[in-house]
Amino acid sequence: MTSPTNASVAAGSLAELLFRSGPIALFLDFDGVLAEIAPTPEAATVPSGVIARLQTLHSTLDGALAVVTGRAMADVDRFLAPLHLPVAAEHGNMRRSRDGRVEVLNEAAMQDVPELAAELEQAFGADDRIIVERKPSAVAVHYRLAPERAAECFERVNAVVAVRSGFSIVAGKMVIEARAAGADKGAAVRGYMQDEPFGGRTPLFIGDDITDEDGFAAAQQLVPVHRDYDSLTG
Ligand SMILES: [Mg+2]
Repeated sequence: MTSPTNASVAAGSLAELLFRSGPIALFLDFDGVLAEIAPTPEAATVPSGVIARLQTLHSTLDGALAVVTGRAMADVDRFLAPLHLPVAAEHGNMRRSRDGRVEVLNEAAMQDVPELAAELEQAFGADDRIIVERKPSAVAVHYRLAPERAAECFERVNAVVAVRSGFSIVAGKMVIEARAAGADKGAAVRGYMQDEPFGGRTPLFIGDDITDEDGFAAAQQLVPVHRDYDSLTG
């Protein structure tokens, strides 16, 4: 007789947890969850079948599914076309609801992006392995192709953020980013959970990076009071 693997036990427990938890609101990170990470952000790929599955999940959950990502919204829409899902982009600074309305948490940061990006482009322009990505309210410096320059990237981003009030720093997998202050994935989850069709459901956040920790924490805090993970897993 074969013992079940840890993975199958975990999958069984998760299925049981989901079954007992009532309606779910699902929050999904993009890179590393829906898309395969590639040497450059542009080269990421969404495996075949993911878009169709997302569409099915979205309707199974009555629309309570959102992508919560550091990427710009236009980027996510392009990768997931023809889907037009609720998306919290740029770490939640731009949040699109189910009805298509986009809420911006920190608008002031957007005005400073061109200047901040120009300074970073000037610093790293001579090295085409370092990608300075401009987003509407954030600037990311990707050093996946030049890992030996990581410390310098951190230093430069820290320096440009230190002299401005509208940004905070967030590090991810081979990327350091100046994002709009006040935005994080937890704020995005809290925003969605106040809206239809997410409110009142049990939030489930799936992510693979340090920036997802805020999303995990918010999801745990927002389990409806009549349900909690301890009683579900106990
Ligand atoms: Mg990720």
